[in-house]
Amino acid sequence: MAAPLRIICYHPDGVVADRAMARAIARIHQLNAVFNDYDPTSEVRRLCETAGTGKKVQVSDDLWRLLALSLKISEQTSGAFDVTIGPIVRLWRRARMSREMPPAWRFDQARQAVGYQWVRLYPEERAVELLRSGMRLDFGAVAKGYAIDAALQVMREEGVPSALIDLGGDLGLGDPPPDRHHWTVAVAAVKPGEPPSYFVRRARCGVATSGDRYRFVVIGGKRYSHIVDPRTGVGLTDQSEVTVIAPNATLADALATAVSVLGPEKGLAWVETFPDTAALYLRLVGDHTEVHTSKRWKELSGETADAQL
Ligand code: ADP
Ligand code: MG
Repeated sequence: MAAPLRIICYHPDGVVADRAMARAIARIHQLNAVFNDYDPTSEVRRLCETAGTGKKVQVSDDLWRLLALSLKISEQTSGAFDVTIGPIVRLWRRARMSREMPPAWRFDQARQAVGYQWVRLYPEERAVELLRSGMRLDFGAVAKGYAIDAALQVMREEGVPSALIDLGGDLGLGDPPPDRHHWTVAVAAVKPGEPPSYFVRRARCGVATSGDRYRFVVIGGKRYSHIVDPRTGVGLTDQSEVTVIAPNATLADALATAVSVLGPEKGLAWVETFPDTAALYLRLVGDHTEVHTSKRWKELSGETADAQL
């Protein structure tokens, strides 16, 4: 998780606050050692080495929990979100460096090893088997949210519940600052240089944004996002930004990526099936920002809350 981390917290005793932050950061490092896809010694990478060998591997509680949730989201979206997207993401990572479109045969080869239905879970042993060789799990769409929730929980356990954790633009909001009813978060405009027009005024929830603002590649004049449509293997080409508010940051992160792939019609209707969850979908069309919101966005973003508090 090579993302900048920011923690804001309030506590009358600075020593308590410092200790809580140090422990929260240690917890994030611990999760990085589980989910980091760039580190060949991470737990996920070691698991992927067993793909197609017929071996099942016992995994940590963290990996088990996040994999189970990711598979559920993969099923619910019929694979628009797919936690086994790794081989295709790797192709695009190389394309970002070389600025060349990978040849079609490479996409075909990568797609052979993608499919959430090829992950078998053994709940009694908390073991996982990857049925096809070359499979690679990718938690890039959810691990930040999970790390944020875990870190917020540590802050709470350490007696510092009034905290905000920002990991690369995904947020976990704990209890509000003293004498306030909520935190105020601005949603960046999708058009570069434009000031934000949407705000979230909330506490005790997760807020995640997915988009191609920072990670994309331009090939042949076309801009491809780091979010990939698993059905085609191609990076999304519409310039969109999806913000999700959910009861926790893990779910917000997962849904923001999934809705990016599903698009506004299907995606927002699906978001509405989750309790206390809402989404804002911004898409840049030429010079104009197209805005779509799920039904409860206004209410759950606290748009009606007192801006002064
Ligand atoms: P950000 O890192 O900008 O917050 P996301 O949370 O949307 O973005 O995660 C994007 C990452 O998710 C990609 O870099 C990749 O690792 C992974 N990913 C890309 N496409 C998909 C997909 N269709 N399903 C699941 N994960 C994906
Ligand atoms: Mg995400």
